[in-house]
Order: sequence, then structure tokens, then C-alpha cells
Amino acid sequence: MQASPFDTHAVTNQPPPFFPRDLWADDIALREAVAREGAEAFAPRLAGYAALAGGELPRLADEAHRDRPRLRTHDRFGHRIDRVEFNAAWHEAMRTAIAHGVAGLSWHEPRPGAHVARAALAYLHYQAEPGSSCPLTMTHAAVPVLRHEPALREWVDKAAMPHYDGRDVPMAEKRGVTLGMGMTEKQGGSDVRANTTRATPLAGEGEYALVGHKWFFSAPMSDAFLVLAQAPGGLSCFLLPRWRPDGGKNALRLMRLKDKLGDWSNASSEVEFEGAWARRIGEEGRGIATILEMVMLTRLDCMLGSAGLMRMALAQAAHHARHRSAFGRRLVDQPLMRNVLADLALESEAATAFALRVAGAVDRAETDPREAAFARIATAIGKYRICKLAPAFANEAQECLGGAGYVEESLLPRLYRQAPLNSIWEGSANIQCLDVLRALAREPETRAAVLVELRAAAGVDPAFDAALAAGETALSAGTDEAGARALAERLALLLQGATLLRANHPLARDWCASRLGGGRGEGYGTLAAGIDLDAAIARILPG
Ligand SMILES: Cc1cc2nc3c(=O)[nH]c(=O)nc-3n(C[C@H](O)[C@H](O)[C@H](O)COP(=O)(O)OP(=O)(O)OC[C@H]3O[C@@H](n4cnc5c(N)ncnc54)[C@H](O)[C@@H]3O)c2cc1C
Repeated sequence: MQASPFDTHAVTNQPPPFFPRDLWADDIALREAVAREGAEAFAPRLAGYAALAGGELPRLADEAHRDRPRLRTHDRFGHRIDRVEFNAAWHEAMRTAIAHGVAGLSWHEPRPGAHVARAALAYLHYQAEPGSSCPLTMTHAAVPVLRHEPALREWVDKAAMPHYDGRDVPMAEKRGVTLGMGMTEKQGGSDVRANTTRATPLAGEGEYALVGHKWFFSAPMSDAFLVLAQAPGGLSCFLLPRWRPDGGKNALRLMRLKDKLGDWSNASSEVEFEGAWARRIGEEGRGIATILEMVMLTRLDCMLGSAGLMRMALAQAAHHARHRSAFGRRLVDQPLMRNVLADLALESEAATAFALRVAGAVDRAETDPREAAFARIATAIGKYRICKLAPAFANEAQECLGGAGYVEESLLPRLYRQAPLNSIWEGSANIQCLDVLRALAREPETRAAVLVELRAAAGVDPAFDAALAAGETALSAGTDEAGARALAERLALLLQGATLLRANHPLARDWCASRLGGGRGEGYGTLAAGIDLDAAIARILPG
């Protein structure tokens, strides 16, 4: 072809587009973990969703993040409507996810492996459209709490259904619903006992009128919310729907939307309740215990989401490094870049394996008390470490793309903005670590479950064994609150190592050598000589 007279240069040394990609075929760590944790039967469906997560969903995410949600407090005639308008791509992403079970698979197909399969779907969805992961995970996590109240049966059934209906109409007119959660108030989020929203009993059994506010209230177009408020008997949990059972709009006022660092496709609002109708769930005064069942599952999804985010950032980095050359060699062949990529790969693999291991424990919790105890404590331990790693990880992956990684089209900026969120919400890092101390002190079965898990991995790797001995001593000695992060970190590293060792994972020894045996410095790309860089890099992407 003849060059156009306007051509100034030939475009070379640029990678081909990353999407579309088969995120199932690409992700060896995910496929292995799904099989290990007992969800092999769901593999074809996961592969199907992975194709969407590597195809249509990222396109929807681009649109939904570019065209952010808008608050509409009033209609043109001045009536209050308290609605948030979303780009059509948001609704399409929600519809796709819910139809494939990202929010409800564990509940509408309750069989062994369903929680693991749902977790894998959540991990895949987060890679493509993390904003909508917020309402999806809250809808999933609300179900066990709603089940405590027989009068809410219809809500349970509709939350579990693979039907999305984004209209602002009463629940009775919908086949499927979504749920949100309201705990955080202006005067205190971590310390929800400081909540001041008041719940006054109404004439109907279990019915209350709520007056007060929530300072963070995400996905405000959900059909209902689990909220905490002070009833006469103390802090209690309520279901607060957008529409009252008598068919009228509930007194839930959307005051404004948060202008957030990231998470742009999702709306997070501030709300006020002006005597809003709500139904109590559980006893008065047991609000925290009741809603904690939901929070356990949303925390699991924070961990899965961060593992997914790391995986996507890693895949982007490896793709770029394969196709870009500098100083006469492809980046992926530059020895120092190989150290960076291998180090990122080790971290990503361990995050994926551990997040799915905890999902497996949730799956087995109903019939296995040890797995239930493991899930209880491992969720806090894993959320702490994995969510905390994500921002630095995303930044390192971003830098693998050089300047292109700082440009929106590369996706890395969006991942980077999203990365801190999972560590902050659903209980920030300190709260997770204090929760680990609380579990160890008050629920001895959690300590026993951790020890069983760790000891089952002993005897095959010297670095792990040495760290385990020191870890057991630290666990027996205990710690005050100031040492909670150090203990949680130690347990996280050991448990991730144990997960890989027990799986006979090909990277287990290198993970233990680098993270437990001192074979690594502070930043990424500081793996010591002797770590098999090729083995870790070979698993990032096929071909
Ligand atoms: C985008 C976004 C959306 C959100 N959506 C929702 C939502 O839908 N529903 C909802 O209920 N909440 C939501 N939140 C709120 C979120 O869960 C809280 O911000 C979070 O739990 C922390 O509470 P806080 O902001 O009040 O901080 P604080 O409780 O004031 O904590 C500030 C810092 O102090 C630390 N800290 C607190 N207590 C201790 C202690 N005893 N020892 C040591 N350190 C401590 C915390 O870890 C944190 O780092 C959202 C937050 C964000 C950013």
C-alpha cells in the first residue's frame, strides 16, 4: 500500500489490543483452584462467563465508568424522586452478571461447589467491571441474614434469582431484586455502636419507623437495604425497602453522591431516613451479630475482588512486556523485568489460591465446623493482606507499561483507582487485624482451625517449616492491639504458603522462599537468585 502523503511515521513496537481474551483459558491459577476447591462441575459455566469478562463486559465497563451515575432528587415538576440515573451499560453489566449467577448462584443452585463457583464468577466479574461488584456482592451476602426472618421469604427468593430488574418499582412487580447495606454514619463507621439513627416501633409486628442518616450508602438504587439503627432494646438490624409494603415510596432521601477516587460506575450516596418504614431482622439489640453474617461474605468478596484486580493488572503487564521491546530485546526477556513479573506472578497466584481456598471453606462450612471456623478467621486474615497489597501491586503492573500505563485507555489507571477500596470498606485493615485478635481470644475453634491448616503443610519445605515454628510461638505468646497487624501478616503469609504447599503448587517453594524464607527485598522485582523466574512467568499467560 502506498504511504499517504500525511503519514509522518510508521507505528511499530506497540502491543496488539489485550481484549478480547479468554480469561478462563488464560488463568491457570483460577482453573486449578476451582478444581481443588470442588467446583469442577461448574467449569463450563465459568468458562462461559470468563469469555464475557474478557469480551463484552470490559466494553460496558468503559462506558459505565466514563458516564458516571447522576443523582436526580426531584422530577421536572418538583416532586421528590430520589433516583440515581445510570448509563445503559451499567444496567447491561448488572443484567449479565445476575443472569450468570454472580449474585445468586450459591443460593439458587445450592449444591457442593456452588459457593466456590460463585466466588470464581465474582473474581472474574471484578476484573471486568468492579463498580457493579458492589451491589452484586451485597445482594449475595444479604441472603443468609434475610433468611432469619420468615416474613422476608419473598425477598430471599428474589435476591437469589438470576433476574435483574433495574426499575424503581415495588418488589412485588419484580422477579429479581438487589440489596444494599447501611451501617456507616458521620460520627462513626468502624464503631457502628456509635450509630444514632433511631428506630421507633410501629403497630405492626416487627415494623419500625427509622429517623436518621447514613454517611456512606452504596448502590442506592437497590430495592432494599440492611441497615443498623437504635431500637428501644439497642442497636438492631432492619430491612429498609425503597417502596413500602403498602405500595408507597419509602421515606429514603438521597442527599448527594460521593465524588470518589475510583469505583466510578457505581453510585455511593449519603442518605437520610425521614420516618422510613423498616422491618426488624433478628432480636432488638442483636444488630451487629445479625449483620455480621452478611459482612463475612462481603469481606470474602473484597478478597476475591482484590485477587481478581491483581490478576488483571498482571495479565496486562505480561501482555505488554511480551510485545514491547526496549534496548534490542522484548521487555519480557529483560532479566530485571523478568524479576518484576515473576514476583508479581507469585503474589497474584497466592492471592487467587487463598481467596478460593476461603471460598471453599465457606462452601463446606454448613457441614464441617472446622471449615466454618477456618472461614471465620481466614476471611479477616486474607482481606487484610490481599486487599492491602492491591494498590502497590496495581502500581507496579502499571509501571510495566511505562507511560502507557498512566493513560486511561490502558485500563491500568482504572485498576489503580479501584485498588484501595477493598481494603477500606467492609472493615478497614486495622479493623480486620483487631478482628483476628478477637476471634483468637473468643473463638478457640478458629485458632485450632488455623493450626490444623498450617500443620497439614509441614514437612515438605524448610522455609515454611522454620516460619511455622516461629509463627506457632508468636500465636501462643499472643499480642496486644499494637501488634495485631504483625500477627495477622505472619498468619496470612503462613496460610498462603500452606495453601500452595498443600496443593502441591508448582510455585509453592518459590513463594515460601521469597515470602517466608527471606528471599526477597521490600519492593517488587527483588527476588533473590535461585528463585525460578521462568516458572512463574510461564504461568501468567499461555502461548
Ligand atoms: C466508596 C465507599 C463506599 C462505601 N459504601 C458503604 C455502604 O454502602 N454502606 C456502609 O455502611 N458503609 C459504606 N462505606 C463506608 C466504609 O465501610 C467505612 O468508611 C469504613 O468502614 C471505615 O469507617 P469510617 O469511614 O467511619 O472510618 P473510621 O471508623 O473513623 O476509621 C478511620 C481509620 O481508623 C481505623 N480505626 C478505627 N478504629 C480503630 C481502632 N480501634 N484501632 C485502630 N484503628 C482503628 C480504621 O481502620 C480506619 O483506618 C463506604 C466507603 C467507601 C469509601
